[in-house]
Amino acid sequence: MLGLMQNWPLTVDKILDHAAKWHGDVEIVTRSVEGPIVRTTYAEAHTRAKRISNALKGLGIKSGDRVATLAWNTGRHLEAWYGIMGIGAVCHTLNPRLFAEQLCYIINHAEDQIIFTDLTFLPVLAEHRAKMPSVKHVVVMTDAAHMDDSVYPGALCFETLVADNGADCEWGGFDENTAAGLCYTSGTTGNPKGVLYSHRSNFLHTLVTLGADVMGFSAADVLLPVVPMFHANAWGMAFSAPAVGAKLVMPGAKLDGASIHELLESEGVTFSAAVPTVWQMLLTELREKQAKLSTLKRVVIGGSAVPEAIVRGFRDEFGVDVTHAWGMTEMSPMGTLASPNQATLGLDAEGQLRLKLKQGRVPLGVDMKIEDDADQELPHDGKTFGRLKVQGPFVAAEYFKGDGGQILDEAGYFDTGDVATIDPDGFMQITDRAKDVIKSGGEWISTIEIENLAVGHPKASLCAVIGAAHPKWDERPVLLVKLKDGESASKQDFLEFLEGKIAKWWTPDDVVFVDDIPLGATGKIDKKLIRERMKDYVLPTAVAKKVSA
Ligand code: AMP
Repeated sequence: MLGLMQNWPLTVDKILDHAAKWHGDVEIVTRSVEGPIVRTTYAEAHTRAKRISNALKGLGIKSGDRVATLAWNTGRHLEAWYGIMGIGAVCHTLNPRLFAEQLCYIINHAEDQIIFTDLTFLPVLAEHRAKMPSVKHVVVMTDAAHMDDSVYPGALCFETLVADNGADCEWGGFDENTAAGLCYTSGTTGNPKGVLYSHRSNFLHTLVTLGADVMGFSAADVLLPVVPMFHANAWGMAFSAPAVGAKLVMPGAKLDGASIHELLESEGVTFSAAVPTVWQMLLTELREKQAKLSTLKRVVIGGSAVPEAIVRGFRDEFGVDVTHAWGMTEMSPMGTLASPNQATLGLDAEGQLRLKLKQGRVPLGVDMKIEDDADQELPHDGKTFGRLKVQGPFVAAEYFKGDGGQILDEAGYFDTGDVATIDPDGFMQITDRAKDVIKSGGEWISTIEIENLAVGHPKASLCAVIGAAHPKWDERPVLLVKLKDGESASKQDFLEFLEGKIAKWWTPDDVVFVDDIPLGATGKIDKKLIRERMKDYVLPTAVAKKVSA
């Protein structure tokens, strides 16, 4: 027997319809790419997005066609998203931090027909134009006054399209399982693979992320998504902000500490989300200027493990609560958040802080398990670590065009490629990426744990740990340290700093000081490149072993 409730397909166009109808006057504030602060409202964004839908139809875009965006977080970018998705086309977010070759690969693989872009990225697109045969039009998200036809001859102007098209356009009306968005993974192993979100998966992700234990913001909040719309959907905030009618502040191209701080203060931001490096820059800026955060209450930090110093800094110096989150492109992206539960309520401030450093618990809509290499499920004892697998209605079932083949196990779980523990209270902690974990004498050593401790050394700016070949133990850890400007330190300083904080056999066999620790396109330490750079490196302990053997 079927239920007798209304059939109301979960399509994301309904989110902006709702925002326009019930929160129509709420502002979307943008630091525009051209410079000035620009203000619109949900009602205006709704109308403008519909005009973009009509423009797309006029340019021949049909349901299922891929339309890309290569852009900063701005009001226009948001309008483009809804304009594309509202008519059943697929919004493909391109990450401008990728190398041009990778961008071309992704554009060709997705067969993008139109690219919406900012003035910033127009020269790159122009340079590689010949390598993107599927792209019929480029739309520059600016006004006529800023168009320069010599950069990309024939490019279209966003504001001209808005002005020239009517706002009367039917949105939705299709199956909720219709594809809505496409985002490629970072491609640290092989070519990037496409994750194809559906309207239903985005809608459900939105509802789940609004839970009090997840992002938990409300209509009374002012949000500043520093997390880019081009990486893991800005953690869903372009959907969840209009869904509740929160004021939205878009930072545009300026993501440095000073610019973010200015917006936080001038717009009364209460909630923000970003990767740790952004917050590190902001904290440095605030300390240098002895500035305050007068309205910010809560930040969600994820994308890579949050260092303890950031959580303490926000809490003790600025009274801002940090929630640590974990997720991935394949999960839309939210997976877990370190919000307290009944079991942890009684913890003192230090206990709460330890908990915040874990990646956290799953909300309804995500399930997880840890398994060993023989697919045997491991206990939730907070110590045993294994491959982390996840399942849920907003987790990828396969990659676009079948790349990578079958990606789910027999029980329908997706292997995240992360290695983690789960404690008896349900808190998951990432100990490594499966491909980075160091296998020493048959046991695993967590590179992330050593890195997080080492970076707490007052002279360290950035730390990375990789495994180096060892004749007896297979692999042993090497700590790479980039010191803060003007600092000097010895190998011994760092080894002594780690002493007592990690098991003795986890102690790095060597400390190497480097000028640069490379970060990948999504701000994570690029271990693949580090391993490449260190390919001729020989551990001092391995040499000693060879000599004595
Ligand atoms: P992406 O798909 O680019 O967002 O990358 C997802 C990956 O980033 C995850 O599989 C993790 O390896 C890593 N990651 C995300 N959040 C965290 C976190 N809070 N702590 C540690 N690693 C994280």
